[in-house]
Amino acid sequence: VKVCVYDDYRLGVLGSDGSVVDISKLAGPLAGTPWAMNELIARFGDVRQAIEELALAGDGAAIEDVVLRPPVPRPRQILAAPLNYGAHILELQDDDASEAREPDARELGFFVKAAGSISGPADPIELPALPHRVFHHECELAVVIGREARSVSPEAALEYVFGYTCLLDITMRMDDTHTEERTLRKSFHSFTPLGPVVVTSDEVGPPGHLHMRLWVNGELRQDASTADMICATEDLIARASRVVTLYPGDVYATGTPEGVGPIVPGDEVRIWIDRVGEMSLRVTQRPW
Ligand code: MN
Repeated sequence: VKVCVYDDYRLGVLGSDGSVVDISKLAGPLAGTPWAMNELIARFGDVRQAIEELALAGDGAAIEDVVLRPPVPRPRQILAAPLNYGAHILELQDDDASEAREPDARELGFFVKAAGSISGPADPIELPALPHRVFHHECELAVVIGREARSVSPEAALEYVFGYTCLLDITMRMDDTHTEERTLRKSFHSFTPLGPVVVTSDEVGPPGHLHMRLWVNGELRQDASTADMICATEDLIARASRVVTLYPGDVYATGTPEGVGPIVPGDEVRIWIDRVGEMSLRVTQRPW
């Protein structure tokens, strides 16, 4: 099924007729709060049948009449893979780089983005006015964790996945005179757009061959497949789960393929991932 968060943190499922059906009552005590999706995910085994029946019945709100929020507004953690596609590593290297292989996701593991950087399908990407910096789009498949995972094997790791959604890992890059931490550069407000919905893992199937694309103002900038990941999704989850406990609703950004490039206020960014979804986002100057 496809689940979403909309309006005042209501939980929804996309109905067979395309409408958004309210399933907030299935979330438990946190219904109506930004944390409700985490709880729904944690208890999904108990409510799945009820959700599927409501989806089949449909007759909810028209999707154009609701405001979609980030489908997981408050994960405890956002983990992200650095350098997980070979061609992206090459495009970041200096021309005078040595022939030696650069470290990639296998050695580097993961980094974190601040969970407060999340925004939704209806929100603009707000760029701060900072001199000598550029802001890049990174098109990524996001994994949403389904149950507590600690030291799981790669063979079992996909059983801990609730579903998948589209993620933009917006990244500030700078010239040689600035040395901000990666965490800061990727954690500005609205630098982690998520959405438009979470598609459950049974509906997506194995995540190893998903085609993904990103356009800026209609121009194709990124066009790749998750088959090109250096560390596959199950390896990312297994490795991270040996470091930190993963919780229901946690988000894992699996890395960007080649083709990253600058965005500026006035642009429109569109992301599409096969079987997962698509959304278009405006880029604006941050008003604060
Ligand atoms: Mn990234």
